[in-house]
Amino acid sequence: MLEHKKQMDELLEFKDFLSNFDFNNLNIDDNYIMNNLREPIKEFAGSANVGDNSTENYILKNILKKFFEVSGRSNNISTSFFNTKNGKCSLCNQDTDVFSNRAYIFPFERKIDSIQKEENRLRFCKKCGFTLYSAMGYLYAKNNLLFFFDSENLYNIEKMSIPIKSELRDPSNLNRIKGKLALNTYYTNETIFTIMFEFAKYLERHNLINDYKTFLNDVRLYIASSSAEGQLYKYYSIEGNVLEKIIEFYIRLISEGREFLKNTKNDKIKESPENLFFKGFFNNLSINKGKLEENNRLREKFISELLNLKVDFITLNEIIMERNKMKEKVVVPYYYKKVIKIFLEVNNLEKEKFEKINNLGYSLGMNMKGTNLENYVWDIFRARGIEQFYQALVELQGKLKKPIDLRPINEYEKNWREVKSILINGILNAIYGGREDDK
Ligand SMILES: [Zn+2]
Repeated sequence: MLEHKKQMDELLEFKDFLSNFDFNNLNIDDNYIMNNLREPIKEFAGSANVGDNSTENYILKNILKKFFEVSGRSNNISTSFFNTKNGKCSLCNQDTDVFSNRAYIFPFERKIDSIQKEENRLRFCKKCGFTLYSAMGYLYAKNNLLFFFDSENLYNIEKMSIPIKSELRDPSNLNRIKGKLALNTYYTNETIFTIMFEFAKYLERHNLINDYKTFLNDVRLYIASSSAEGQLYKYYSIEGNVLEKIIEFYIRLISEGREFLKNTKNDKIKESPENLFFKGFFNNLSINKGKLEENNRLREKFISELLNLKVDFITLNEIIMERNKMKEKVVVPYYYKKVIKIFLEVNNLEKEKFEKINNLGYSLGMNMKGTNLENYVWDIFRARGIEQFYQALVELQGKLKKPIDLRPINEYEKNWREVKSILINGILNAIYGGREDDK
């Protein structure tokens, strides 16, 4: 808490300074670059490790090489910025002097970069290139994942780093994200998704949501990852408008989880209100197959779509059917309906469709529960075309000796595979139950 206050105070001082600072007209030329070259590295490695007189070569070999696969051919930092040609900047589109970016991680040549064709490389003007380089001074790592925030506004970058520096970073280990996260992750997207959840928890705890909401749109999150062997790099970024939606989703999960816990009579729940919905749902999306890589494969696929602001019901159904097959104790993740509804609401997606089909599935499931028809979901699941899907439902109707109102299915039959998935999830939720009150 004290640490947080100190950082906020520092930030506010910084803000004062920045309000007199005109970023748009800041002239980032060779002189500026030479004079400020060490600043991001001080930020990254701690000023105790980077003296004003440290040579570029020293910094490369003794600091950066520990974190990046810098090629033996790179001997200094600055020349990367000066080796320019006429061209278009990949970030701001200006026709000007641009340098070719060797990799997404700092403007150096990495060992692996020789694979990349020269013409496929990004090109940056000095201003965009140096801003990006500065943003990487706030580079964080979790296992094989590296990430940092970028923005045209340095104040935003600094501010995004506050929650991470205050709470998420391991104080004894420079830029490493500490310890265990809310989920035990293996893949890139599920990891960044969980880190951003911790980020949102910090904002919620310190009452900073409104403050952060205003500028999330101007921030971009860059992510680079490698396989466990340290090869095969993948780079991508998440736009600020997506971050904003994801964080809004988390905040709703937290606040509604808190409400839920206040009102429930279930005294077996041991989870903290903050983590209740997030862990209850996402923890139950991995399948116990013995190897983390296999356990989390489908969850990673599902979460990757959430990061495109879409709910991939088909993958979710695959997960639930796998859990059903493996006879997991929890077949349908806890708080299934609540979590999905919140995500659909936050992103203005088709909530009505989900509710209609889910309700139909749920009431079917209630009728099937405890009968010898429970396994009939497999027949529905195996339907390989819309005709087969309808046929399976008509058969179920006959067996239940109850009419099924097929209107919600007719209404959305264009996406019949998705409809089928939502329906089955609803059925299984009724049969195996999520948490109490999760109807
Ligand atoms: Zn540019």
